[in-house]
Amino acid sequence: MKTIDKIYINGEFVTPQGTEYFDLISPTTNKILGKVLLGNQKDTQNAIAAAKNAFETFSKTTIEERIQYLKNMQASIEKRKEDFINTMVEEYGGTLQFATISYEYMLKSFNSVIELLNTYKFSKIMGESEVQMTSIGVVGIIIPWNSSNGFICSKLSTAIAAGCTTVIKPSEMSAQQTQLITECLHEAKLPKGVFNIVNGLGEVVGAEISRNPDIAKISFTGSTVVGKIIAKEAINTMKRVTLELGGKSPNIILDDANFSEAIPLAMAAAYMNNGQACIAGTRLLVPESKLDEVKSLIKNIAATIIVDDPKKETTSVGPMVSAKQYERVQNYIQTGIDEGAEILIGGLGKPEGLENGNFVKPTVFVHVKNNMRIAQEEIFGPVLSVITYKTEEEAIKIANDTTYGLQAYVSSSNEERAHKVASQINAGRVQINGIKHDPMAPFGGFKQSGIGREFGILGLEAYLEPKALIR
Ligand code: NAD
Repeated sequence: MKTIDKIYINGEFVTPQGTEYFDLISPTTNKILGKVLLGNQKDTQNAIAAAKNAFETFSKTTIEERIQYLKNMQASIEKRKEDFINTMVEEYGGTLQFATISYEYMLKSFNSVIELLNTYKFSKIMGESEVQMTSIGVVGIIIPWNSSNGFICSKLSTAIAAGCTTVIKPSEMSAQQTQLITECLHEAKLPKGVFNIVNGLGEVVGAEISRNPDIAKISFTGSTVVGKIIAKEAINTMKRVTLELGGKSPNIILDDANFSEAIPLAMAAAYMNNGQACIAGTRLLVPESKLDEVKSLIKNIAATIIVDDPKKETTSVGPMVSAKQYERVQNYIQTGIDEGAEILIGGLGKPEGLENGNFVKPTVFVHVKNNMRIAQEEIFGPVLSVITYKTEEEAIKIANDTTYGLQAYVSSSNEERAHKVASQINAGRVQINGIKHDPMAPFGGFKQSGIGREFGILGLEAYLEPKALIR
């Protein structure tokens, strides 16, 4: 049994003043792995004070110094590869396959920020004036459990590039992953107070970050419901907000696509990270005339999807993060049945032999109408809705008929046609014939998938405040 009873403030591991413990439960076995001592409002205020103090000097550091800090952080994370991967697998049930890719992305996020710093102009001429892009201040970073250290790396590295200091509040369910990255960042020897990390509950630590006047900006990744709570609170002190929220991404397979490539890709896009991904392609739009072919391809692929212990190399879908998330997915499967959609594969209950963990059966519904709840609401589990369309125009209309707009996918054997369709979809990213992450391109949502962008120049500028000097 592990006990995590330290948070990180002003360059030191300290015991929080909070007295409440939170149990860390294995999603694979539902046995207790350990417990974490949660920080309280006072701990959060102390972390914010440390970051505020550090901002005075850190905002004046040179580009070369910031690049060196980023390199140090990357080097210390590089040394603990196995630990990072194993902790992701154990703590939230990410599969070994996914955790390995996730770790590589974490490391790469430093490279792209360094590349950006080497070329970005912090001072430019606009009109007749000089515009200085100045560090925005103390940034509150609030993140979910589904790629915890990935979010810490991408957000913290951008904040550092911009000369900002930070207070990070990870999910209370990610305490082991947080402990590990804190040890690495401590080793990187950043100036005291540049990053502070407080374990704690959203309504306590997250709420203080949203309210505190010394926080200039919040970079939040999480659900749309919580994003709205944070944005409402943030406006009282005019904090800048970047909100990366939920999604219900459409995946349009055009009639000329290579279905034997596009359908396996669609299943991978739906079930990535056990279906617990904001960018998961959960609405599969196929031509009505191709439905039978699609159904038979899905059944064949389903036979190759291995749901099992996430530690095994062969596992492609692991457990849901918590018993609560398992119940949520079950409720949505029941909703789909009640709404009149038809189960093609999967369904209610746990797969045989995996009754102790939060495992669900990867599920595909057919005969889904886009106005059903299973087609409109984010399930955050391996549940895919197949929706048919008659014309390209109808496909685009269905794709855009959602309150979300984070990511979309288009497959076609005709690049030009795919490009034309992609250009008409209201989403922050549209993937054409594949799934790729471009760390220099903006990432973020249209509509209720968020506000603002991360990555690349737009991501960096979200941590900067423009100041025009007019002579
Ligand atoms: P969540 O919104 O419940 O929690 C996210 C974080 O917010 C946690 O640290 C939580 O403690 C904190 N929080 C909760 N209540 C708060 C409050 N009142 N004030 C301040 N902070 C509070 O999300 P989750 O269940 O941890 O993660 C899943 C969600 O995250 C999904 O909706 C998913 O789509 C979204 N997500 C989005 C992206 C993206 O980049 N757009 C990426 C990953 C996940």
